[in-house]
Amino acid sequence: MYSLMVLIDGLGDDPIPAWNGQTPFSRAPHPFMDRLCRQGTFGSVSICEEDVPPGSLTCILRLLGVPAESFPSNRAYLELLARNRDVSEYEMVLRCNVISQDSSGRLVSFNGMGLTGREMEELAGKFSSLSSDIEFIHLSDYRNLLIMNRSEQVLQTWTAPPHESMGLPVKELLQELQEASLVMKLFMRESEAILQPYNRNGLTYRLYPWGASYRTELPSFQQLNAMSGAIVSQTEIVRGIGKALKMDVPELQYCTADIDTDIREKLAVTRKLLGRYPFVMTHFNGADEAAHRHDYEGKAGFIARIDKEFLGPLLESLDAPLRIVICGDHVTSSVTGKHTRATGPVIAAVTGNTSPLFYEMKHYTDIVKFLMKESEANGKGNYGAGNHVECREKSRHCGLMSGFSSGREQSLPF
Ligand SMILES: [Zn+2]
Repeated sequence: MYSLMVLIDGLGDDPIPAWNGQTPFSRAPHPFMDRLCRQGTFGSVSICEEDVPPGSLTCILRLLGVPAESFPSNRAYLELLARNRDVSEYEMVLRCNVISQDSSGRLVSFNGMGLTGREMEELAGKFSSLSSDIEFIHLSDYRNLLIMNRSEQVLQTWTAPPHESMGLPVKELLQELQEASLVMKLFMRESEAILQPYNRNGLTYRLYPWGASYRTELPSFQQLNAMSGAIVSQTEIVRGIGKALKMDVPELQYCTADIDTDIREKLAVTRKLLGRYPFVMTHFNGADEAAHRHDYEGKAGFIARIDKEFLGPLLESLDAPLRIVICGDHVTSSVTGKHTRATGPVIAAVTGNTSPLFYEMKHYTDIVKFLMKESEANGKGNYGAGNHVECREKSRHCGLMSGFSSGREQSLPF
């Protein structure tokens, strides 16, 4: 049997005051998810629990069966892998934002606010030929990577993430890093000269390197789960995770990693991969992006689109039973714009199953077992003897979800 994880990044949310406490998930119409819930089971789970940070990197690794002791320390190396690049053990890779500071030198944007996408591309071209010691790789917009010779001093230096350092003096934030590497110091100085003509409205733009990391070997998905797998995602960190786990991560042409993504492309690629691999994870990033922007309407609209444009057509066209889970990684609050450790919705079902599925989703390991450890999840007949959920409990959840779906269809434009 094939397994599909539909991972809606940042799916869970806080109650939205303007919606009388409903969340984007409970507010959005999602009849196909409701149908799966009736066939299967509904739970509320925290993937990160209390032991790992509530981020996509840790939570998705966990959902793919990677033990916490194997988690890499930060993202830059995986983002590089997503670009089909690797580094040797003699090199290291850093994240590098374009930031802006005000006239007093305080950080006012971590994302090059005020520069156009075209200007950032133009700048990337100039930075690429700036130094023979540092390779500059442009990812998108304000996001870049730097590759340079490994320096233990730089690796031991902790530079605060720019998005967590708003209002702080940039010079002090970067001081330790510049003192740790002369090559870095010269690169930073010369990059300021390139950025100088772009300064405007009292803002000075600068490069902000941080998050140094090195080559990290992860166990393969095959080794971890005794099956091969594939990932459908346009989000760099998720693509990097797939490549680090030696999964198939096909290139996507039209997806944007936000709520305007091309869901039809995700559907077509997912269908193709389901015929080739026993496990596929299809990742939708837009819900997390919308919540970071406090756009709870956009998040609800995107969840509804996934239901209508991805799940509906997929379920209609299946010609064999599919083990399916729909869940998030961490919770992203549209109220605060931040990730949290709270529980988020999990729906699990086996399509075409005529007998009801009694399998509880109470813990992240229940998701991993259900999708990747078929024999353990199967138990006798139904799933997991001793794991029975009361029918009454299950229908209460489904009823809640259906109740939320109806009655709101006029209030959001889809
Ligand atoms: Zn996020």
